[in-house]
Amino acid sequence: MEQEVLKRIVAALRCSQCSASFKQEGVDFLGSKEDVWYFMVDCSGCGNREMVAALVQQAGEAEKCTDLTESEAGKLVDPVESDDLIDIHLYLKDFSGDFKSLFTGTMGHA
Ligand SMILES: [Zn+2]
Repeated sequence: MEQEVLKRIVAALRCSQCSASFKQEGVDFLGSKEDVWYFMVDCSGCGNREMVAALVQQAGEAEKCTDLTESEAGKLVDPVESDDLIDIHLYLKDFSGDFKSLFTGTMGHA
């Protein structure tokens, strides 16, 4: 199931700089927090490197409001068409270099 979700996310990703599609080996899974999966992507076309957050919702929960804040959500990239299983929404994030704080939820140390 998770591999299938990952394939769908990779297939839906497009480089924001050159609109190239990504290969699975160019996508690093960083981690997940609730329904949001975080990835770092490397574009083989233009060398662009950016962070993507994918909101992965199971069928039947698609109407549920996300609790992403506006800053977390970032810029909507490319919503995937709904199907029987999942509904994926992809967001670009500005990569600040401290993405680990996404998963801890705390700013424990400098
Ligand atoms: Zn690119």
